[in-house]
Amino acid sequence: MKFCNKCTMPNTRPGIYFDEEGVCQACRAEEQKNYTDWDSRHQELEELCAKYRSTNETEYDCIIAVSGGKDSHFQVHYFKEVMNMNPLLVSVEDNFEMTKAGEHNVKNISERFGCHLITLKPNIKAQKAIMKKTFEKYGKPTWYIDRLIYTYPLHIASKFNIPLIIYGENISYEYGGTDRIETYSAKNQINNGVASDIPYEELLDDKITEKDLIFCNPPDNQQLENLNPIYLSYFVRWNSYANYIFAKKNGFKDLAHEWTREHTFENFDQVDSIPYLVHPWLKYPKFGHASATDYASKFIRYGLITREQGIELVKQYDHKIDQKAVQSFIDFLGYTHTEFYNIIEKLYNPDLFERDRFGEWVLKHPIWKK
Ligand SMILES: [Zn+2]
Repeated sequence: MKFCNKCTMPNTRPGIYFDEEGVCQACRAEEQKNYTDWDSRHQELEELCAKYRSTNETEYDCIIAVSGGKDSHFQVHYFKEVMNMNPLLVSVEDNFEMTKAGEHNVKNISERFGCHLITLKPNIKAQKAIMKKTFEKYGKPTWYIDRLIYTYPLHIASKFNIPLIIYGENISYEYGGTDRIETYSAKNQINNGVASDIPYEELLDDKITEKDLIFCNPPDNQQLENLNPIYLSYFVRWNSYANYIFAKKNGFKDLAHEWTREHTFENFDQVDSIPYLVHPWLKYPKFGHASATDYASKFIRYGLITREQGIELVKQYDHKIDQKAVQSFIDFLGYTHTEFYNIIEKLYNPDLFERDRFGEWVLKHPIWKK
């Protein structure tokens, strides 16, 4: 494993690019924001909105794909209160056990900004069968949900004929990934690695039918042609910490009074669903880094902490999987702890990990060992 000279990101993050100075693409993207002409980007957005803004008050101008988190608060504020658009909000709920903060936040968005929200709650029977399969076979338990989060707003847009669809940040460009071109168009979002395709024929069996996978594919090309999905992060200087500060002042709740999570040091990202956290943690056995690396790297790029402080946080948190999240995850899917850990065991990459004297997998070349 090699690590970025500026942040804590390793080169094992799928698709990430390091330049000749050993700096990762996410750090370069953050630097680039200092040289971007944000006034002209705002002008571009204004022109785009003008195309879709209806003169009829009873029509929607755009769809915003929301989760109810800090970024959703900022997105809805921006389109409704800055761009004067009339947005319809669309979300996908994962049927998992929710935190109190999560239940509050999604209501808060609707009430604070005055918007209708359409939520898809997927078929639980299908969800359980698909989750078990993608977890056991690919180590990607929430693939189904992550995919729906991208595809479902496109289906709603097509059905209600609301062509402009707003997503938050371009994950590949902002944090590193294969599709790393800076663009406003979110048409390629489905390929960003979070929910890239698992071949359907491999999913289908006696428990999972094609019917269960309705909405999982984007609308067909002809329908897609008429839609304009965009990333807000192209038009405004995106900063997830700033979004958190903004959201908090507008009624968003973090986990400060509810749950101290074992796997990370922040309490404001992915706060709604308890078992969902198992999924991002699974990057650790596969790629040797997880949420603490992601957030330490972001905080370094934002100038909130030094690289040395970031390394300490990675050392302290990255290897830990949160026990409350595990319990809730196995309760939902019907695993025992033994079955769960047996599946995890198979995901460890022996090129990156070795066993210590207690039999635990540890990184061969962690960032703190020179
Ligand atoms: Zn970096």
